[in-house]
Amino acid sequence: MAEEGGDLNFHDEVELEDFEWDPEESAWTYPCPCGDRFVITQDELEFGEEVATCPSCSLIVRVIYDADNLPEPPEEEEVKIKESRKEVVKA
Ligand SMILES: [Zn+2]
Repeated sequence: MAEEGGDLNFHDEVELEDFEWDPEESAWTYPCPCGDRFVITQDELEFGEEVATCPSCSLIVRVIYDADNLPEPPEEEEVKIKESRKEVVKA
């Protein structure tokens, strides 16, 4: 039987809130089983894109989100605060 719903063969469906914001890439990322990360940018989300791709393998995931209620990328300062918290935990 042929698969229904077009050519796209999603590895998984992941809610955007499970993605992590990467301020260096300006993109949302989610761990890929190959060891790299699925990536989707804020611009793509605002454009209605829902496919996050992994640059290192052929897997793709469908990003579940509410287009009318897109999360804002965290401010850089917040990220820095998180980073310093991490270091506190390490120490
Ligand atoms: Zn991958």
